[in-house]
Amino acid sequence: MYSEWAKDEIRIDRLEIFAHHGVFPEEARDGQIFYVNATFYTDVHKACEEDNLAYSIDYGDACFFITEWMQNNTCRLLEAAAEKLARALLLKYDLICELDLEILKPHAPIKLPFGCVSVKVHRGWHRSYIGVGSNMGDRERYIKGAVEALEAHPLIKVKRVSELIVTKPYGGVEQEDFLNGVLELETLLNPEELLETLQKIESAAGRKREIHWGPRTLDLDILFFDALCYRSETLVIPHPDLQNRRFVLEPLAAIAPYMCHPLMGKTVAGLLKEL
Ligand code: AMP
Repeated sequence: MYSEWAKDEIRIDRLEIFAHHGVFPEEARDGQIFYVNATFYTDVHKACEEDNLAYSIDYGDACFFITEWMQNNTCRLLEAAAEKLARALLLKYDLICELDLEILKPHAPIKLPFGCVSVKVHRGWHRSYIGVGSNMGDRERYIKGAVEALEAHPLIKVKRVSELIVTKPYGGVEQEDFLNGVLELETLLNPEELLETLQKIESAAGRKREIHWGPRTLDLDILFFDALCYRSETLVIPHPDLQNRRFVLEPLAAIAPYMCHPLMGKTVAGLLKEL
């Protein structure tokens, strides 16, 4: 579950588990003690109001889940165990928005005196808005196919799909009208992984990058990713042109009018009004 504001904490401290993680073969064979510390960030407000566990995370159940996961899997690296267990917890307990997960290994095979070694990760759900467009062939089918592919991804939840609108092409290339819309996702992927996923879906729809702003079976753009401002060689977030595109702002305003552009400090509804 993604949350805008909830930062209440439920904590598990030093859960002791005998398990088989380690780089050395004898660690996988013989096993050793691990400790797990976990902090679940959630919203306990409703559980407090109702005084009802059904609205919270059952920490007893979570302790058994962590123990079973640690015992049923073998990772060479503590990093891998922490990452995978964090993901498993976020997928199992919908009320966890974010978590800190630390795995400690007090008897790591180091021939020096030491207290403990550990790896700690912080992971959580992100909210992203995706612009979707098509102007070749069965446009609606391509867009529906993209939604289905995203829904089938284990680390993505499609929360909302805007109405699709017919729009005139943008960028001066003579071509068919577009069908455009916007999707709201929650995801455990990071932005570069999300871009990679979108590009695979575009390729599977037969998308070829031939003419810039030219016709395409399927176009998927990351518009926002939380309130992140990010630039790499392959990715710019927020999408640098979204404020100039009515075909993006209109469907976006229909599902997220109060989403605030983190660089411009204006809502989507405000940007659309100004266009
Ligand atoms: P197009 O699909 O024609 O809109 O452009 C895709 C190219 O833009 C790819 O090479 C991406 O790496 C790059 N790109 C930069 N920022 C974004 C973004 N926010 N969403 C999608 N693609 C992006």
